[in-house]
Amino acid sequence: MSRKKIVMATNNAHKLQEAREILADSDWELVSLSDLGCHEDIPETGATLEENALQKAQWVASRYGVDCFADDTGLEVYSLGGEPGVRSARYAGGEGHDSQANMKKLLQRLEGSDDRRARFRTVIALILDGKVQEMDGVVEGSIRQEPSGVGGFGYDPVFEPIGYAVTFAQMSAEEKNSISHRGRAMAKLKAILK
Ligand code: IMP
Repeated sequence: MSRKKIVMATNNAHKLQEAREILADSDWELVSLSDLGCHEDIPETGATLEENALQKAQWVASRYGVDCFADDTGLEVYSLGGEPGVRSARYAGGEGHDSQANMKKLLQRLEGSDDRRARFRTVIALILDGKVQEMDGVVEGSIRQEPSGVGGFGYDPVFEPIGYAVTFAQMSAEEKNSISHRGRAMAKLKAILK
């Protein structure tokens, strides 16, 4: 029997690969936006992770009439009222994705602070047969005084998950994925798709 198809609303090759591996032993075949002939940037203007994930999934569902899902992630620092949150990619300004500048700003904002608790949170919006469902995945931890490690991306060098003495950037990809926000949210998605 042929596998059912589901579209991931992202142009990020790394995310697609990760999701493909997670769904490899399921009944679902992961289809990318470029498989649909879509090479546009999906609008992402929401005020929360939930709004952004839903906006991206609805954009794809309304254009292509397919089952699909989208994710949105933020680092939420408790003593900063949840900053950088939905602005994680663009925290230091500019076009975004300047991880060094983002980490530098975060460490400056936390200078002298004893409360360095933080969490990563991923929200996934799924649209299946026209019905919307949202799920999230969380990993709690804290922000180091300075970056350590060269693995991963984004804020990984300054994030130490609870129960570990290393940062995400000092872990193997497998170890990080097994406890990460995105890994946990994807596991919930997989359970719903079953
Ligand atoms: P996105 O919604 O997955 O694109 O994530 C938004 C931003 O959050 C990224 O640009 C990174 O700065 C940060 N981020 C997301 N996931 C991770 C992670 O696993 N490690 C470190 N930073 C992350």
